[in-house]
Amino acid sequence: MFNKKRGYIDLSNAKKNQAALDSEGNFSCPSCSAWISEAQKIQNNDFCPRCSYHFAVSAWERIHAICDENSFEEWDANVSSVNPLEFPGYEEKLAKAQEETGLIEGIVTGRGSIGGFDVVIGAMDSRFMMGSMGSVVGEKICHAMEKAIQYSLPCIIFCCSGGARMQEGMFSLIQMAKTSAAVGRLHEAGLLYISILTHPTTGGVTASFASLADIIIAETGALIGFTGPRVIQQTTGQILPPGFQRSEYLIKHGMVDLVQPRVEVRSLLIRLLNVHQGGNHG
Ligand SMILES: [Zn+2]
Repeated sequence: MFNKKRGYIDLSNAKKNQAALDSEGNFSCPSCSAWISEAQKIQNNDFCPRCSYHFAVSAWERIHAICDENSFEEWDANVSSVNPLEFPGYEEKLAKAQEETGLIEGIVTGRGSIGGFDVVIGAMDSRFMMGSMGSVVGEKICHAMEKAIQYSLPCIIFCCSGGARMQEGMFSLIQMAKTSAAVGRLHEAGLLYISILTHPTTGGVTASFASLADIIIAETGALIGFTGPRVIQQTTGQILPPGFQRSEYLIKHGMVDLVQPRVEVRSLLIRLLNVHQGGNHG
């Protein structure tokens, strides 16, 4: 169902957790198994009321929650993927993702303000083919970073991704090098780049622009890694430590700079942008 207020077709995690849906449409928390209604979830800012599990939010929800009201101007809204390898079924998958999410591709980019500070901002959407990075996602990120250089603005990217988009093969993998080079140009221009790693950030996205920011913020409880824990466990034959690849584990091992609950990310960004501009704002 398309939810106008929330700006997307709300599947309420139902697809991912079909077994845990009851007859009234309540679903169980993937973390603590508490039964939650959609109304409770919205009332609680998309957290589980029992264990604070962060439910997935759409790219537009992120942007509305982070940017000052009516400040966001979208760029490259209509750029859509082609099927360069003629991968069977890819067009159908894209069409289905577009229909279900109301998005053309897996990231929304543009310019907005946060607490009065102008920024370039991008937000990935995990519902669009698991937030995978194909050539359009890579291109939109690079274009946003180039515009950040053009306008001399800080760049903020909210990451969530299953990794490279396999249906585009090498076209997808080269986005890792391409986005990394764009981050390099941001650094050369002396511009602030902040990435916020949200659940889940994995694969080629973790291994490229997501991990190259000046400040890397991890959202509470997010799974962040290159290969998932199941594959690592199967490959190495070792039992992984509790909380492996979660934000709280990664900060102890120096992989991220800060761990923040979602509700505090906007105020943190305002503080960081203020410090970055010499603390003289407003
Ligand atoms: Zn829970």
